[in-house]
Amino acid sequence: RAGVEHLAQFIIGQNALHQAALWQTMYRRSLDYARRGVLAAALSALDIALWDIKGKLLGQPVAVLLGGPRRESVRVYATGMYFSHGPDQPARLADEARLYLAQGFTAMKMKVGLGIAEDVANVRAVREAIGASTPLMVDANHAYSLCEALALARALEPFGIGWFEEPVSPEDYAGYRELRERSAIPIAGGECEYLCAGFRHLAVERCLDIAQPDLCAAGGLTEGQRIVALMQTLGINVTPHCWGTGIAFATGLHLASTLDVLPGRLRAAEPLLEMDRTENPLRDALTTPLFCVEAGRVRLPTISGLGVDVDAALLREFAAP
Ligand code: MG
Repeated sequence: RAGVEHLAQFIIGQNALHQAALWQTMYRRSLDYARRGVLAAALSALDIALWDIKGKLLGQPVAVLLGGPRRESVRVYATGMYFSHGPDQPARLADEARLYLAQGFTAMKMKVGLGIAEDVANVRAVREAIGASTPLMVDANHAYSLCEALALARALEPFGIGWFEEPVSPEDYAGYRELRERSAIPIAGGECEYLCAGFRHLAVERCLDIAQPDLCAAGGLTEGQRIVALMQTLGINVTPHCWGTGIAFATGLHLASTLDVLPGRLRAAEPLLEMDRTENPLRDALTTPLFCVEAGRVRLPTISGLGVDVDAALLREFAAP
């Protein structure tokens, strides 16, 4: 909150329609100390708020301001299947995976990072539960060294994994590159990276098949569009990392509705947007409406701005120390 208040002083009283110019003002005034971390997230928050205001002023959804949606709904994947303790973990994960199918999801992502043998047992159980045709991704949250990540990637190849997310430490560009060269599974990452300048490292080092900027930290929608342009120019696909609040989900939804998947072809693939399923009142209670999954997809809001309302009283309650 202090970061938002600090950066807000540079834009209060300015015209929200000039959101890219205001982004530049905030960035220039703070770049000596704010190119990463919570201050970059504060800049992102203000930028996303400006897009919301701009949409409301112009009477248009944010996706229209971004240049127009390519689709009216976005395919989502369930993020869940976190770790639990106990010998029946594979069975519990399989039950959770079946629950997501029953809820209408057609793709999902599970955690790995407990060690190769345990990860493989868990992935096997989930894959058997959801069948061969449901896209399944794995996320290590940078738990592994290059050697471990390579061993896991090879062990998981028979299970048809859509992508291996954050296999190694976010600053281990050489590790990312070598893993990507030696693994048959596409490599994803970037949720800990900031601004175009940060994503440039991941791109030029050939670290990724799929870049996952978190729009609420990586620089907002203004910088997010630049990150998409940079990545796709270099042949890297983008699917936003999306976690934490309804605002984050709405922001990711608007951007994802505008994205193409490379390479373009007759039966083009569609971007997949992350939809976290862990219990979280910041996501489910703070904003309305609640986004619903139908046949694996979430409809893009058609009202002006981001299309979510924040419960201000509840926000004050959450923000209280
Ligand atoms: Mg992740």
